[in-house]
Order: sequence, then structure tokens, then C-alpha cells
Amino acid sequence: MRPFSLRLRLTAWYFGILAPSLLAISVIAVYGMNRSINSAVDHALDERATAVRALMRRTLPTGSIQDLVDEIKEHSQLDATGDLMQVADARARWLYRSRLLADHDVPLPAATQPAVRTERFNGLTLRIRNERISIDGTEFSVQVATPLHEFREAIERFQWLLYVVVPALLLCATAGGYFMSRRALSPVEKVIDAAESIGAKNLSSRLVVPSTGDELQRLSETLNKMLTRIEGAFTTVSQFTADASHELRTPLAILRTRAELALRRARSADEYREVLEQLLNGLERTSDLVDRLMLLARSDSGAQSLHRSELDLNVILRRVCEQGVTLAAAKNLNFKAELEPHGILLEGDQDFLERLFLILIDNAIKYTPACGDVAISSRLVGSMATIAVRDSGIGIGASDLPNVFERFYRADKARSRESGGSGLGLAIGRWIAEAHDGAISVESMPGEGATFSVSLPVSRVTSSRFRHVAGRT
Ligand code: ADP
Repeated sequence: MRPFSLRLRLTAWYFGILAPSLLAISVIAVYGMNRSINSAVDHALDERATAVRALMRRTLPTGSIQDLVDEIKEHSQLDATGDLMQVADARARWLYRSRLLADHDVPLPAATQPAVRTERFNGLTLRIRNERISIDGTEFSVQVATPLHEFREAIERFQWLLYVVVPALLLCATAGGYFMSRRALSPVEKVIDAAESIGAKNLSSRLVVPSTGDELQRLSETLNKMLTRIEGAFTTVSQFTADASHELRTPLAILRTRAELALRRARSADEYREVLEQLLNGLERTSDLVDRLMLLARSDSGAQSLHRSELDLNVILRRVCEQGVTLAAAKNLNFKAELEPHGILLEGDQDFLERLFLILIDNAIKYTPACGDVAISSRLVGSMATIAVRDSGIGIGASDLPNVFERFYRADKARSRESGGSGLGLAIGRWIAEAHDGAISVESMPGEGATFSVSLPVSRVTSSRFRHVAGRT
């Protein structure tokens, strides 16, 4: 199921935040309105009760009860706030009772009832304030009241307004939110469309970067950088495939021609043997090339794993030196090894590390003319071990130096091919060094030999005083 679009989710969030907020505001508004009306009504009742109390205190000390009744009647007609008042004496006999209260039969409050209360009498809701007034030992009970229906109606009207306005507001705001998120996200749609139109055939195309200084600009820039990286990787892979097919085609064509030539006429057993040996030789080299290609392809995809264990670097270098001595002897070269006396332990894959140093020694021997020197040395520099393979051979030109670690790169193609080089050795060497969190570099001057240095992180140093100097031919 396709999940909701970001636009819809943003709108839903907007609605989800706005709806409860508007509801809370409405509830607070109605509650606040109720409270302020009640307090205004109570305040008015309080003032009226005070006025009646003052009137009674003024009248009674000199006048009779009848005088008081007359005064109250007069006062109640003067009082603009209404006629809603009743006065009873201590024996609960009414002295004065306004018509509305009498019509609705509003009784005297019980002693337990609060001084101010809201009560409904025969369909009339009243807010009543009860006052007990004692004048010269005579008790009176005075109630002043205000009908609440007008206020109630006002509140109800306000509530109805809210019932209409709040949903309408919510609807408009949600529609507005949807429209705004649509507008805000429309550049993202453009980025999506542009990104979708880029494929293997037009990998060099880039997204248009808006100069808005916002997240969209960053997103477009980041996607463009990613496209540049993908384009680089794509070019490398295409180049690698093209180079690999080319490298394989040549030896296979040679093998085929040799086999065809041999089959053109009948040959002696010795001739067949010679041709078969040549074919086998060629097949071995081709299969070695395929192995190297496979290794690089696996390293590219991250599928080539290392079998790491704690290794003694000197043990590895000693084994490599043994082969170096033999290879150098075959070419009449001097081979020397100067190894760090301390035992250097590192985490690594023994086979791959041996392969790395053998590639360097093999190259040094390959590109050094007879009677030259080849030397390997190891040193401990801080937490790194540096292994250098030095030769006094033909060296490498400044223009070739930055490229020698590239796949299929050969500084001198004819010489390299002649000596069986595929241009993959140093590329594999660099991958091995980097897979061990190390690095490889080269220094050279044409005609003055070359020095390849590998630095690898050391896990531990022991004090074992191991020293190995390989033979000299
Ligand atoms: P190859 O199999 O051709 O030797 P490498 O990847 O091992 O491939 O080396 C790449 C190129 O670097 C070689 O073709 C050669 O031109 C140059 N090179 C490598 N090592 C040396 C060296 N010790 N002295 C001079 N040139 C070297």
C-alpha cells in the first residue's frame, strides 16, 4: 500500500494541532464568559443588597415597619436594575415582595443554603442573594435577585456561533495548510522529476540548484554531489570492463592463433608437446589475469573479505624475502633486507600481506637491470610500521608517478607486457594496504630506481630481538 504523501501528512499534522487548540480556546472562552457574567451579576446583587441594608438602617430607627415598606416600594421603583426583591420579617411574614418573585413563588431560603445561589423557579432561572439584616434586635430577611435567562441566551448564542465558526475556521485553515504545503513542496516535486529523468545514459546531467539558501538548495547540491560520485564509479566500472575485455582478448587471440597454426598440418609428437606447453603457459597467465580481475571486482563490491589475525610482520617479511632472494638470484641482482629488530604485531590477512610485498619485490626485480640492487626494510614510526621496497632500476617518470596505482596502467607498456605485467599488481597492492587501514606511496626518479613504501597500523610491539638479513647473490 502506498503510504500517504508528505503533503497529506503535513496537512493532517496541521489539522491535528489546530483542532484541539481551537476546541480548547472555545471551551476557555465559554467558561470565561460564564465566569465574568456571574461575577458581574454577583457584584450588582451585592451593591443592591448594600443599598437595601442602608435604606433599612436609615428608616427603621425612627420609622415604623409600614414606613419601611413604603420606603422599599419607592426604592424598588427607583431601582433601574429591577423589581426583583423581597423582604420578610423574623417570623417569615412578607413585608415586601416584587411581583415576579411572588408570581414564581420564590420561597425564603433555608438556613443551610449559601448566601448567593442560582435556582430555577417555575421556568425562571434566578441568581439570588440572601441577606439577613438585624436592626435594633429585629431580624429581617432580604433577597435581591437577577433573572439569568438573558445572559444564558447570550452564552448560548455565543456557543452556537462557535459551533459554526470553529469548524469553518478549521476547514479554511486545513485547506490553507494543504495549499501551503503543496506550494512549499512543489520544488521538491521538481527535484524528484529531474532526479527521475537521470539514468545511465545521461549520468552527466545535474539538477538545477535553486539559490534559496534553504534545505532545498542543500538537497539539490547533495544530490548533485552524489551524482558526481556515481558518475565517477560508473566510469571506473565501464573503463574497468572495457580494459578487462581488451586485456583478455589479446592473450586469447594469441592462444587461438597458435592452436590453429599447429593444427594446419600433421606434426611430430615433440612439436605438439612444444605447442601444448606454450598454450598451457598462456592459459596460466590468462587464468592469473582472470584471478586478479576477480579480486579487484570483489574488492569493488566489498565482497572480498580478509581473514584477520594477529601477525608478526617479521615472519611475513622473512617468507617474502626467501622468495625475493631466489627471484633476484635468477636475474643476478643484489637483494638486501633490513628489518626492524622489535617484533611488530599487526592485525591482518597473512596471504594478502605476503601478496602485497611480493608484488613490490617482483616489480623491483622486474624493472631493475642485472647487477642492480633491490632492498626491503621495515621500521617502526609511532604506531605505524613502514615497509619500504627500494630498487636501483629504471625508475618512473614524474608524469607516470601519480598513475602507477591505477588499474591497467603501465608506464612502459612494451616492457611491462614483455615481462608478463598486466598493470594490475599495484592496484591490488593499494587495495590490500587500504583494506588493512594502511597506505602505499611511491618515490622515484627516472634512471635512479624507485622506492615503494607501505605503512600499516601496528597492534602491538614485542621486545623480541628478531633480525633477518636476506642473502646476497
Ligand atoms: P605490472 O604488472 O605492469 O608491473 P603494476 O601495477 O605492478 O603492473 O605496475 C604498474 C606500472 O608501474 C608498471 O607497468 C611499471 O611501468 C611501473 N612500475 C611498478 N613498479 C616499478 C618499479 N619498481 N620500477 C619502475 N617502474 C615500476
